[in-house]
Amino acid sequence: MMDLLDNTDVLCKKCKVPMERGSAVKEGFKLRAFRCPKCKTQYYHPSDLEKYSQYKAIKEREFNMKLRMIGNSFCISIPREIIKFAHVEENSFVSLSMENGEAVRMAFHQKKVVRDEE
Ligand SMILES: [Zn+2]
Repeated sequence: MMDLLDNTDVLCKKCKVPMERGSAVKEGFKLRAFRCPKCKTQYYHPSDLEKYSQYKAIKEREFNMKLRMIGNSFCISIPREIIKFAHVEENSFVSLSMENGEAVRMAFHQKKVVRDEE
């Protein structure tokens, strides 16, 4: 979907000057931001703010999943809420790395795995 704010000047309500575009990071989440060069007022992109509130809702939840053995590997189910938020689908790449002695970090990649025909 086309984002009108990508091609339109956003004016500061108070100063009526075009706002500068940038980004901000809140709790590890990157949002597009608009900042007034005069009064320094800052706004976040409305769709990024909505996505950020979804992120916070998922981040505050703790999902307890059961570890299952399939062949020689262990598997967990990833809750649908997380998959939907991350916009990943079946056969997407996932990177796993040990974060410390107890935690595993998991990162989604948008690119799909291309499998050879067997
Ligand atoms: Zn201003």
